[in-house]
Amino acid sequence: MVSRVIPVDRFDLVIFGGTGDLARRKIFPGLYRRFLAGQIPAEARIIGAARSDLDDASFRQSVAEAIDEFVGPAKRDAAAIQGFLERIRYVAVDARGEEGWAQLATMVRPDVVSAFYMSVAPALFGDLAERLKLHGIARADSRIVVEKPFGRDLDSARALNATLAAHFDERQIYRIDHYLGKETVQNLMAVRFANILFEPLWNAQYVDHVQITVAETVGVGGRGSYYDRSGAMRDMVQNHLMQLLCLIAMEAPYHFDPDAVRDEKLKVIRALQPVGPDDIVRGQYRARGGEPGYLDDAENPASRTESYIALKVHVANWRWKGTPFYLRTGKRLRARTSEIAITFKEPPHSIFDEAGGDWRENVLVIRLQPNEGMNLRVMIKEPGPGGMRLVQVPLDMSFAEALGEDGADIPDAYERLIMDVIRGNQTLFMRGDEVEAAWAWTDPVIAGWEARGDRPQGYDPGSSGPEDALMLIHRDGRRWREIQE
Ligand code: NAD
Repeated sequence: MVSRVIPVDRFDLVIFGGTGDLARRKIFPGLYRRFLAGQIPAEARIIGAARSDLDDASFRQSVAEAIDEFVGPAKRDAAAIQGFLERIRYVAVDARGEEGWAQLATMVRPDVVSAFYMSVAPALFGDLAERLKLHGIARADSRIVVEKPFGRDLDSARALNATLAAHFDERQIYRIDHYLGKETVQNLMAVRFANILFEPLWNAQYVDHVQITVAETVGVGGRGSYYDRSGAMRDMVQNHLMQLLCLIAMEAPYHFDPDAVRDEKLKVIRALQPVGPDDIVRGQYRARGGEPGYLDDAENPASRTESYIALKVHVANWRWKGTPFYLRTGKRLRARTSEIAITFKEPPHSIFDEAGGDWRENVLVIRLQPNEGMNLRVMIKEPGPGGMRLVQVPLDMSFAEALGEDGADIPDAYERLIMDVIRGNQTLFMRGDEVEAAWAWTDPVIAGWEARGDRPQGYDPGSSGPEDALMLIHRDGRRWREIQE
């Protein structure tokens, strides 16, 4: 299959926080891979902007080192890296002072697409926005990219939205949720809305339940003090898991158009029912074999922040009335995996009662990582003589395999999202009202456990989470899928 590369015109992309961790690990390696794909033309300028006092040469050197570290050897080509670095400049700016702004103003061209990526702490968004406007650098058609976390509750998210809105229109603002940039997540929309096969079954009449799992093996060590102010609900559920839930639950938009898609997602968030204490389990990983537990990593021995959360959620609308969505995410779990599993109901009447064998429901699994792909489990007759015995087999589609060589090289979420910014396509970015609606649902859930003084339950590292999380689903006569790679 031949990949279609959409040409991108000349552009200026300024990365505030260009010396930071995210820029090193994701943004510059991603841009380099897009360069290899022919999408960073010679007239494009990528401008790193940060506090450190560097010249172009030393900044380029640090980008080269980041490419060395975070791009696979097959793609590291000295001549290509050199070509990419030639498009890169650096300017030292202080978001809160005057240093560097006049120089930046001379570097950003007035007649090409301009985008400003704020890969800095959210506390600096307002300062950057103000100075970009004050110095006439950002125009009415410039794009602003902001990173997570977008607020820590409804009030702070509203304040951030208001700060950005003071300087930019909503159509200029690109709020990144990198989950939306994943190939599989977009494929979810393709599978749902480009086929007739699934949609008639995609409702409470035929779907028994949905499980969304984002499991990590790492703990919070290194960023414990940041994480401790956040926790799994704020760090993962309010944004990533919520977005996945929206894409599963939403109605068909009238067109694949940014606002049409985001309108439908917003309706789902608004239809989410409040979650009561019986439908939430929170956990913290324990110390084991010399490895620190959550309380050691968080540096607060009395912390009540959760490193794991499982929730049973209902979408109160005609399509989903009665179909629970079970969400779970956590650190230090058995395997690193992200998946959505849609379990369909059993056929209304079995004609095979006497046939024996392994009788199970159809399950559609959408794997986000590792090995992005989809898998539909269907019942067939066990091959061979011996009568009519049933067995469940997977119809498996690994995108990498299905798409051949091109597929094996699935772009990273960040590369895709950055190019969407350059192209001016907001479909895969969260709109301000969406983020606020998500916090409006999240806040009372958090306030509930804070008011009750709930303590998270301990769980063993390498396990699939706290015991009570098993009960959360067992009591409904269902079971979690195995957490495995
Ligand atoms: P970092 O601390 O590694 O880098 C911060 C950057 O901001 C540096 O380049 C620094 O020079 C610059 N900076 C700080 N103060 C400045 C000032 N006054 N003026 C100009 N520049 C200034 O941070 P990071 O990990 O790269 O994260 C950046 C943003 O991305 C944060 O909002 C973070 O929450 C978000 N984020 C990071 C990750 C990640 O994996 N690192 C993942 C998701 C979201």
